[in-house]
Amino acid sequence: MPPVEERSPRAESPALLRLVALRALKRTCPQCGEGGIFLRYARLRPACTACGLVFRREQGAQTGSMYLTAAVTQVFAVTLIFLSWWMLDWSVATYVAVTLPIVALFCAWFLPLSQSLWVGVDYLTDAANGEDWVQPRS
Ligand SMILES: [Zn+2]
Repeated sequence: MPPVEERSPRAESPALLRLVALRALKRTCPQCGEGGIFLRYARLRPACTACGLVFRREQGAQTGSMYLTAAVTQVFAVTLIFLSWWMLDWSVATYVAVTLPIVALFCAWFLPLSQSLWVGVDYLTDAANGEDWVQPRS
């Protein structure tokens, strides 16, 4: 009986996109899904402990995650400020005193998720470019 080949999603397939997105949300390696990608809060491991995938291959590889964090946090802040202005009758000082810490906490919460998503985007880009070291495992 011939060995059963492990099926892995092809680069650019919707299945690979879903798999990598799920792994990004779980903050695990986009290639194998086994290794955690963080050493501690917002500090990426150099490489996956399970499959060896390098998470930061070049200087500035995480710049996109900083832009993503800034953009999403700004949308969150505008939404929060608009909703609180619309629903509550507070002074400007109260708006600032209440919404500023909430926005800061949101930003701190979103940063590692943004980094994880960006590792996935980087991985999918390399998969789409046909890099030979990209070998997604399901
Ligand atoms: Zn891995």
